Amino acid sequence: MQGKKLHNLSRLRQALRRLLQDLERSLEVAFGRSSLVKGNVYEMARKCGKPNCVCTRGGLHRSKVLSWSEGGKTRLFSIPPERLGELQGKSEEYLRFRRARARVTEICREILAVLDQMESLRREEP
Ligand SMILES: [Zn+2]
Repeated sequence: MQGKKLHNLSRLRQALRRLLQDLERSLEVAFGRSSLVKGNVYEMARKCGKPNCVCTRGGLHRSKVLSWSEGGKTRLFSIPPERLGELQGKSEEYLRFRRARARVTEICREILAVLDQMESLRREEP
């Protein structure tokens, strides 16, 4: 194999090693055992509809909700105060998991691209 090809091949090998390290880091969250809850936790401010309530004068009712999409629809779950910490934690873990999954898809695509380049560098006619 000629010098330029060898040089390119060693760059590809380095790239492949970096991708494998990245893949391992990205998969760390997959080795966890904790529960995941799909959705985002946020604060909702609303009016209740009672004519003389403080909310008609700007004092909106504030509550924490979990929101997620299911079959194309947005679902809402009103979070009881005593479950706020728990659900926040589980929903953050879910988001971490999904981000990792997206990154794994990307890395696998990059690995295949590197493999294709390696193949074309190393291939020769019989
Ligand atoms: Zn009200």
